[in-house]
Amino acid sequence: MDLGIKGKKAIVCASSKGLGRGCAIRLAEAGVDLTLNARSAGPLEETAQYIRDSFGVRVTTVACDITTEEGRTKILAAEPDADILVNNAGGPPPGLWSDWGQKEWEAAVQSNMLTPILLTTAVLPGMISRKWGRIVNITSGSVKSPIPFLGLSNAARAGLTGFVAGTARQVAKDGVIMNNLLPGQHDTDRIAALMTKKAETENCTLDEARQRAQAAIPAGRFGNALDFGATCAFMCSEHAKFMIGQNVLLDGGAFNSTMG
Ligand code: NAP
Repeated sequence: MDLGIKGKKAIVCASSKGLGRGCAIRLAEAGVDLTLNARSAGPLEETAQYIRDSFGVRVTTVACDITTEEGRTKILAAEPDADILVNNAGGPPPGLWSDWGQKEWEAAVQSNMLTPILLTTAVLPGMISRKWGRIVNITSGSVKSPIPFLGLSNAARAGLTGFVAGTARQVAKDGVIMNNLLPGQHDTDRIAALMTKKAETENCTLDEARQRAQAAIPAGRFGNALDFGATCAFMCSEHAKFMIGQNVLLDGGAFNSTMG
């Protein structure tokens, strides 16, 4: 299917690896020029070169921490007229409610709530004036169903979800389409780190921890970043223009629900 976005310009945050990389690859496949970001320059440049070689689109890289004002300023300077924004950043550390004080809460809110909100409010005026825009926030299945050891994520991402629910409905008439994409467990570095923690907690091997986690998913496996990216690219496409403020869950059926 032609996604109708060839020649559009996208900022994809936190995209040298994992889910952000999957989104960048699928957008490039649809002919979108990219500005990619991550903190470490090496893996970022590797991903950028792979995409240039594979799809022939223009790829700019900005190595910076997207959760800082300085980082956001740099990426917006590199691409001041983004048609598409994919918001993403690293996830907060696992733990228990009793582990976290003001510092940890502020960091989680900065990464997973304020950063995507501030990037959104920076790109919205341009998108509105051009009467076309797409914003996808990579959040988490934890927004629908809390993950006990990821309380920082549960809370910070719920705040972002509230912002999107209201704002998406205010900008839809201007051709700007905002939605959230909610990963369940996908086989990335993030899940590798969480599985290491699970193996420690459950006193089992890493392999056993991975097997147990995958057995609990109706699809029987973790998701992969390229499939995730294909859904993101669709949500950034011309065809998604009647999809407003939705929370699209990709979790292999793990959230047990008849509706919602
Ligand atoms: P990942 O494989 O660890 O990749 C994270 C990517 O983000 C890397 O490119 C990393 O590069 C970059 N990054 C991290 N912090 C950054 C920052 N402050 N500024 C700029 N770039 C940054 O993670 P993932 O699995 O793709 O997860 C992406 C998001 O989805 C996370 O918020 C995660 O919590 C959430 N999520 C993931 C899953 C899952 O199963 N994978 C499930 C639910 C939610 P550098 O380290 O070089 O910066």
